[in-house]
Amino acid sequence: MNDIKYKLKIDDIIRRIEAARVRVSPHHIVKIVAVSKYSTSQEIEKLYRIGQRAFGENRVQDLERKATELKDLPLEWHFIGNLQKNKINKLLEVNPSLFQGLDSLELAYELQKRLSLREMTLDCLLQINSAKEVSKHGVLPEDAVMVYETIQKECQNINLKGVMSIGAHSDDKERVKKSFATTHNIFTQLEDATICSMGMSSDFELAIECGSNMVRLGSIMFN
Ligand SMILES: *Cc1c(COP(=O)(O)O)cnc(C)c1O
Repeated sequence: MNDIKYKLKIDDIIRRIEAARVRVSPHHIVKIVAVSKYSTSQEIEKLYRIGQRAFGENRVQDLERKATELKDLPLEWHFIGNLQKNKINKLLEVNPSLFQGLDSLELAYELQKRLSLREMTLDCLLQINSAKEVSKHGVLPEDAVMVYETIQKECQNINLKGVMSIGAHSDDKERVKKSFATTHNIFTQLEDATICSMGMSSDFELAIECGSNMVRLGSIMFN
């Protein structure tokens, strides 16, 4: 795709996000995180040149490599994947803007330990398994508020900013919508939470209409 065509394509995605967000409210602002996990540093740079700043990766090694390759650009890196305990130190070396996949109290305690040793803090989202799928990570909806408040109380170096969830894996729009509504309902119960990250390439408009204010778009942004 040539540069002009690519820019028009991104403009079209932004138009779709605009239409969805004003259906919620003119004051409802949505941020795009471009998920670059299937893309090269070159492709990331191309998207940066047309205005995109926030990028997400789901493997620590890939995040580290691309952040290093692109260190001269003022990019904002998000880690959106599952974090294994043996990768915590590597993630903290990269020091992403936001870790979106905090998915258990156990991981929070381990992360807290390492953060404290390094005398640093990290902005995080609590991941919620809103449709209770065995294939997905995240805390169960019924435990989410309690886990969130426990982390806030006991993990001083973790700055919880809100929640993240992946929509139900289903062709049934009502099921997907229900999973987003579950996450958004939890979000509204959390004091000081500002980010509700939900919606991917196939379901971002529905997610926004359910209250998402951060969408994570991969395939649609890069293909
Ligand atoms: C890959 C991924 C995305 C983006 O998926 P697309 O369907 O390509 O938009 C969003 N969030 C998470 C957690 C992912 O792993």
